[in-house]
Amino acid sequence: MKKFRVGILGATGMVGQNYIRLLNNHPWFKVTYVAASANSAGVTYFDSIIGRWQMATAVPKDTRSLIVEDVANINKARKHCDFVFSAFEMPDKSLVKEMEEKYAAAGIPVVSNASANRFTDDVPMLIPEINPHHIDIIPIQKKNRGWKKGFIVVKPNCSLQSYITPVFALTKAGYPVEKIFITTLQAVSGAGYPGVPSLDMIGNVVPFIPGEEEKTEEEPLKILGEIKDGKFQKAVYPAISAHCNRVPVIDGHLACVSLKFAGKKPAREKILKIWKEFRALPQTLKLPMAPEQPILYRNEHNRPQPRKDRDREKGMAVTVGRLRECKIFDYKFAALSHNTVRGAAGGGILNAELLVKKGYIK
Ligand code: NAP
Repeated sequence: MKKFRVGILGATGMVGQNYIRLLNNHPWFKVTYVAASANSAGVTYFDSIIGRWQMATAVPKDTRSLIVEDVANINKARKHCDFVFSAFEMPDKSLVKEMEEKYAAAGIPVVSNASANRFTDDVPMLIPEINPHHIDIIPIQKKNRGWKKGFIVVKPNCSLQSYITPVFALTKAGYPVEKIFITTLQAVSGAGYPGVPSLDMIGNVVPFIPGEEEKTEEEPLKILGEIKDGKFQKAVYPAISAHCNRVPVIDGHLACVSLKFAGKKPAREKILKIWKEFRALPQTLKLPMAPEQPILYRNEHNRPQPRKDRDREKGMAVTVGRLRECKIFDYKFAALSHNTVRGAAGGGILNAELLVKKGYIK
């Protein structure tokens, strides 16, 4: 199969570096273009990330000599890639939105990690195990904007990846969830590089991450919603209340979750069976980045733990543990996902694989 030529916007950042790492030897995609801010542009990728490469593996050989371009140079991108992964920051979120729209208008599909377009009416926010059908809005999006080939899809925030799939699995099995109370313990890599100052993080916990609680509470409702009259109609349930904390962990967001079912609560054994047997479209389609088993349960009383569980299933599985009855709601449990893989680059790659398989990226 001829590989798709892929561009990474924000290739020098934490998420961009994970794209470079995960796309090395990908069966369908080849990184042919890298872009970042004007400050990094004009030198080889290898030179641009000297002193700030955060991955445990070496910079892939094929990528080292690519010249870093300015994200604003869309004409150049058009010549060198079939689609782009967007993982760049800008001082103002509206500038990211504008830039992503310029790429799509120039005929380049954008698979985004940024929050800028997550609540745009005709842009799908995808977790392929949950709402792959939301890509059906792409033809409407293209028609609305007069775009011929380009379009935008986004993935949700990393904070909710750990608990939304287990909750969805229960809903899909006939046990809709009405309320969720959640406390997240989020890794420092979630803030990018260099991220939170070390003096704030070492031996410490910061009980505030700007905008994170709002995203954790609101984004699931779009993901669980439906397309109506050419736009997304949010789900009404579950009502979510979130506390988001930054903790001194490098990778892996842990969530402590209490939930209440809308109707009769299932038995604990039934929940474990639902999670164990949960499979979805990425597994049926055997997408290369898809975990074989999306939800893993650990019986040990002290798991999941970020360091020990985040890399399971290529970093794409959600690991759950400590399922027990809750004195206020119905049940409580702990859930973990790898924030820069499932919650960022790996999730973006899975979205792109779905779009290829469904014929949207050609
Ligand atoms: P990061 O480490 O700070 O990287 C930011 C990237 O954006 C760098 O490549 C940087 O290039 C580029 N950039 C900065 N200013 C720019 C400008 N004015 N024009 C063009 N490019 C510019 O951040 P990150 O953690 O990788 O996050 C990237 C995006 O992914 C963000 O939208 C973030 O919210 C989202 N995200 C992150 C995570 C995570 O776990 N980290 C998870 C989900 C989503 P230079 O190197 O040249 O400055």
